[in-house]
Amino acid sequence: MRLIKKYFAVFQYYILVLGICVSLSANAQDVRFTVVLDAGHGGHDPGAMGDIMREKDINLSITLDLGTIIEQNFKDVKVVYTRKTDKYLTLQERADVVNNHHADLFICIHTNAAPSPSAYGAETFTLGLAKTKANLDVAMRENSVITLEENYKTKYHGFDPNSVDSYIMFEFMQDKYIDRSIDFASIIQKQFLSYCNRSDRGVRQAGFWVLHRSACPSVLVELGFISNPTEERYLSSDQGQKEMATAIFNAFVDYKRAHDKRSGLQTSNVTKIDQKVKVEEHKQLQVARAAEETPKKLVVNTQQNRVTDTVIKIISTKQTPVIVTVTESKIVQSPIFKVQLFASKKNVKPNAPDFKGIKNVDYFIEKGLNKYTIGAETDYQKIENIRNKILSKFPNAFIIAFVGDQKISAKEALKTIK
Ligand SMILES: [Zn+2]
Repeated sequence: MRLIKKYFAVFQYYILVLGICVSLSANAQDVRFTVVLDAGHGGHDPGAMGDIMREKDINLSITLDLGTIIEQNFKDVKVVYTRKTDKYLTLQERADVVNNHHADLFICIHTNAAPSPSAYGAETFTLGLAKTKANLDVAMRENSVITLEENYKTKYHGFDPNSVDSYIMFEFMQDKYIDRSIDFASIIQKQFLSYCNRSDRGVRQAGFWVLHRSACPSVLVELGFISNPTEERYLSSDQGQKEMATAIFNAFVDYKRAHDKRSGLQTSNVTKIDQKVKVEEHKQLQVARAAEETPKKLVVNTQQNRVTDTVIKIISTKQTPVIVTVTESKIVQSPIFKVQLFASKKNVKPNAPDFKGIKNVDYFIEKGLNKYTIGAETDYQKIENIRNKILSKFPNAFIIAFVGDQKISAKEALKTIK
C-alpha cells in the first residue's frame, strides 16, 4: 500500500511538472513580438523646454498612451517601457532594456526644439549619417544628455556628443536593420500626415547613440517643435497627445502585419483606428494611470506630526506645478518648501553653466518667467540646509513654498504648520 502511495506521489509530481512546462510554452507562444517604448529624457533631464511644458512630460504622456493602445489591441505583443514615470535613465540603460528583452522593435519618442519659433512639423529618424546640419543638430541635442553622466568619455568610448568629429563613425557603420527601420519610419510619417494632419518633415538619418546601441529595427520620433507655440499647445493637449499616439499605433499595425507575414506567422486581425480620438476617454485613461503610479516618497516632518506616511506627488501641469499630498486615507495639503535659485526669461538647459554644476534643478513658470528651483521638502530645516549648501554659488537664493498649486512665501507656509 505504501509503495502504491509513493508511486502515486511521483505520478502527481510528473503531472505538475508537465503542467508547468505546457503553460510556460503556451505563454512563450502567446508573446510573439516585443516592442520597447522609450519616452525620451526624464527625472533631472527635462529635455527641451517650452513655455508651458517640458519635453520629458510630453514624451512620457504620449509613450504611455501608445503602449496602452498596443496592449489593448494586441494580445501577442509584449510592451516594455524604458520608463513609466518621471525617471532619469542614461542612453546606454535605455539600449540595454532593448537588448535584454531581445526586442523586435524599438520606438523612441522625443519632442523637437529650434532656436526659431517658426519651425514646426513632425519627423522620424533612423540611424545613419546626418546629411544636413539640421539633422546633425537634432542628434547632437538628443545625445548631449550623455554629458550629464560622470566619466561619459570613458563610458561612451570617447564619443563626444558635442563634437562633429565624433559623428564620423556613423559613416562607416553597417546597420542591418536599416531597411526595416526606414519602412517603419515612413509609415509613421504618413500617419502623422493623414491621421493627425501634421506637417510632414519626412524620414531622416542621424547618429543617435541610443539607436546605435540597440540590436533591432529602431526609430526616433520627433513629434513636433516645443519651441513653436502652436505646436506646443497641440502636443500638450489631450487631443493632440492621443492623436499622435494613435498615429504611431496605426503605423505599428502595418509594421506588425508585414513582420508576421515575413515570419510565416498568421497575421493578426487588428486594424488601424480611423475614428478621431475622444478626449473624454483620454482623460479617464490619465486619471486611472495617475492612480497606478508610485509617487516619490519624501521625508515628513515628524515633529509636527500632522500627517503620517505622506507621499508627495508633483504633477507638472500646463501652468504651474501642482503639489498634491496624499495620506493613506485622506487628502491633506501641507506646504512644500523649495529653494529658488534665479528667474529667467530663457529656457535654461539642465547642464547649462548658469546652474554652476548644481543638479536636479526643477522649474515653474510665473508671470512669464521660468523660475528655477531645487529641493522639495516638507521639513523647513532640511530646505534651509539645502539653501546653505548652495549660498556660495547663489547668494540671493531664497526659500519659497507651495500649498496645492499656490505659491506662498516661506513665512506664510511656516505659520500654517505651527
Ligand atoms: Zn529629446
